[in-house]
Amino acid sequence: MRIGAFLKQSLIDWEGRVSAVIFTKGCNFRCGYCHNPYLVLPELLRQTQDIEEHEVLDFLDRRKNWLDGVVISGGEPTLHEDLIPFIQKIKALGLPVKLDTNGSHPEVLEQLIGGKWIDAVAMDIKSALSLSCYRKVNRTMTDSLLERILESVRLVKDSGIEYQFRTTVIPRVQTPEEIQALKKEFLGTHYILQEFRDGDILEKHLQETLPIN
Ligand code: SF4
Repeated sequence: MRIGAFLKQSLIDWEGRVSAVIFTKGCNFRCGYCHNPYLVLPELLRQTQDIEEHEVLDFLDRRKNWLDGVVISGGEPTLHEDLIPFIQKIKALGLPVKLDTNGSHPEVLEQLIGGKWIDAVAMDIKSALSLSCYRKVNRTMTDSLLERILESVRLVKDSGIEYQFRTTVIPRVQTPEEIQALKKEFLGTHYILQEFRDGDILEKHLQETLPIN
């Protein structure tokens, strides 16, 4: 597993739990508001060293009695072929796992939910569920990617595990009407709106010449 950052203790990444947070490297999205450009943009990825998987697992083994769970975030964790074996190693320590995802890999989500390898999932809903709205937030959006996201929404809703959908509200990007449409779309689900925070966001690193695949 390519790990870019590791937070040993968090009180905010899994509601009601003391969790450790693992940030995987690499993402297939380019969200302007992203606060983890060093986990996303290839130029910046190369500037950071990977954290060895065994270091993280050794720490979790030592601290498992003090933690309520492990959050796997990113970047986009579902890009990694070794995600499931990695989660299996964490579960073997007796620790529950929550996955943060952009929903672009429903086939991975299906395996994780079906195999009971995750105990909770949080999925970003970047904008109202149309190509034009999504593209305003994520430059890499395509029709087929939107289909995959819709499939992930269905999977998460029907998963039977703890879940959360969440949207970061960016006033200069999404219109109030789009936010209203989302609230209607996700009415009756576990859905939250998050406030945009400025800072060292991805948009500030993007240049026209940058590849966005
Ligand atoms: S905010 Fe967007 S670009 Fe950043 S890690 Fe999440 S999905 Fe990737």
